[in-house]
Amino acid sequence: MTKIISEEELSRQRAFSAKLREANAHFAAEYGRERLAHTETYGCQQNENDTERIRGMLKEAGFKFTEDAEKADVVIYNTCAVRENAEQKVFGRLGILKNIKERRRNMIIGICGCMVQQEHITEKIKAVHDHVDLIFGTHALYKLPELLYNAMHEKGVVVDITQSDGAIAEDIPVLRETPWKAWVSVMYGCNNFCSYCIVPYVRGRERSRKSADILNEIKELVKNGCTEISLLGQNVNSYGKDLDEGIDFADLIRMVNDIDGVERIRFMTSHPKDLSDKLITAMKECDKVCKQLHLPVQAGSNRILKEMNRKYTREEYLEKIEKIKREIPGIALSTDIIVGFPTETNEDFEDTLDILRRVEYDNIFSFIYSRREGTPAAKLDFVLTDEEIHKNFNRLLEVQNEISKRKNEAYVGRTERILVDGASKTDKTMLSGRTDSSKIVNFKGDESLTGKYVDVKITEARTWSLNGELI
Ligand code: SF4
Repeated sequence: MTKIISEEELSRQRAFSAKLREANAHFAAEYGRERLAHTETYGCQQNENDTERIRGMLKEAGFKFTEDAEKADVVIYNTCAVRENAEQKVFGRLGILKNIKERRRNMIIGICGCMVQQEHITEKIKAVHDHVDLIFGTHALYKLPELLYNAMHEKGVVVDITQSDGAIAEDIPVLRETPWKAWVSVMYGCNNFCSYCIVPYVRGRERSRKSADILNEIKELVKNGCTEISLLGQNVNSYGKDLDEGIDFADLIRMVNDIDGVERIRFMTSHPKDLSDKLITAMKECDKVCKQLHLPVQAGSNRILKEMNRKYTREEYLEKIEKIKREIPGIALSTDIIVGFPTETNEDFEDTLDILRRVEYDNIFSFIYSRREGTPAAKLDFVLTDEEIHKNFNRLLEVQNEISKRKNEAYVGRTERILVDGASKTDKTMLSGRTDSSKIVNFKGDESLTGKYVDVKITEARTWSLNGELI
């Protein structure tokens, strides 16, 4: 049964937010400038979504924002624990901030998210980086106003990495960068314990938001001009199992589909073992659900899938893919792949390549396995050398690049409806947006089209994107 953070606790946080607002107003009056906050996010979409809440709370507390950490009065790093290199990056950034803080003694440095939810990491930060003022875990996010207030008024580091029993905090202010599209969390945590993954340890067990809270949030977003909704959770397919509402994820997307003003619905992430026929039917019947599915396979060998504790076989996975392709012709598919999992042989890796060739994904997100302390896979030995693993990783990219290019070529000559995201990241003279199937399309056009739907004729296919002309 999902627990909600009490109204009493939330109003306590609102009181701290008011105190911060007052202090920030005094600061502005005294120094002739406003206090600035800077946030950086590492890791997955869930973390991006958490940062939107952090920024929402900071805005409510009277902070303005800067892209430049050196100019900020408050810096918050929202960290990821999934791969070691993301942790190393954060430690590197903390080292740079140490020098800056020596010049700007009042700067507050906060670090939060999955990485610090691990006690040994928090201990390391306290021991090595004594210039950090605030450390808070994924369960304490909603307490930011109180924790930040304390960090600004107390000596020494303020720490809150308590593991709550999975309560959900509703009605936290959210600051979204793109008002025309929004990620909406439908559930938090994960119960799956894949043997390589740290998420269930740092984000806790699955807990679903009440459907009424989700639908109200979406209606509010629509009122403010949002048309594309992406429903978010570590495993959205098990949505509702812990609620007493008697609804599942398929029911939820039908409810979202019924909201006037919503034009596109996307969702991630789906666990293959929980992808039901009922959901496939709902995807097929709901006209606003995009023709796109991200279904992480992780590996193609049954032996490795078992070691990963993924709870499906390659045959079961492929059967689901066939069914989806049959029911929703032309659906764009993407996946996650881990290369070099402990005990993986070259033969196991060939099975992964075989899956790629059979499914013909539009896109893959591939990673070399990263050992995570405390997970069962961390105790397994490697069969392949680093060199062999890197060689396999490059082969995987080669095979996928060829498939992605071929799939993109099929778009040339078609007219696609694009939701415009603004100037392209790689070429500022072009606009960029996405098709229903989530392909990136670059084309010439006026920036005033940002946030709008336009028709674009596809003229050229690249490996990871398409080019087109506005019509
Ligand atoms: S499903 Fe597996 S990989 Fe995904 S968050 Fe849960 S434990 Fe991690």
